[in-house]
Amino acid sequence: MKLNIALIAHDGKKAEMVSFVARNHSFLDDATIYATGTTGSKIQKEGYSVQILLSGPLGGDAQIAALVATEKIDLVIFFRDPLDKHPHEPDVQMLMRQCDVHNVPLATNPKAAFYLLKGIKAEFPDS
Ligand code: PGA
Repeated sequence: MKLNIALIAHDGKKAEMVSFVARNHSFLDDATIYATGTTGSKIQKEGYSVQILLSGPLGGDAQIAALVATEKIDLVIFFRDPLDKHPHEPDVQMLMRQCDVHNVPLATNPKAAFYLLKGIKAEFPDS
């Protein structure tokens, strides 16, 4: 089974996301990665293959929510910046709500993301 993983990072967390991807690429290499526009471009610049969606404030979070709602995503890693305001907060809330509606694992910080990735890899070693 090939995992579909969504990656999103608010501006204050983008560097952390790029470094998370670099540290955990062995877990991510075989997965299809979807990411919001700017997050995806930064990850792609580091040499990783990414399906880049719209930028978050322009609808990227909503696109990922739609993929979650149609059960096309196995894991969402969303490094939110709790110290900043975001014009698209309603979309962020919708995405998190869709994860709960569809029982899709959601990690909002690197440690949670690491344990979730490790757990999913253990459950699906060929993914
Ligand atoms: P971005 O979107 O990757 O396009 O910056 C992320 C977000 O702010 O939701």
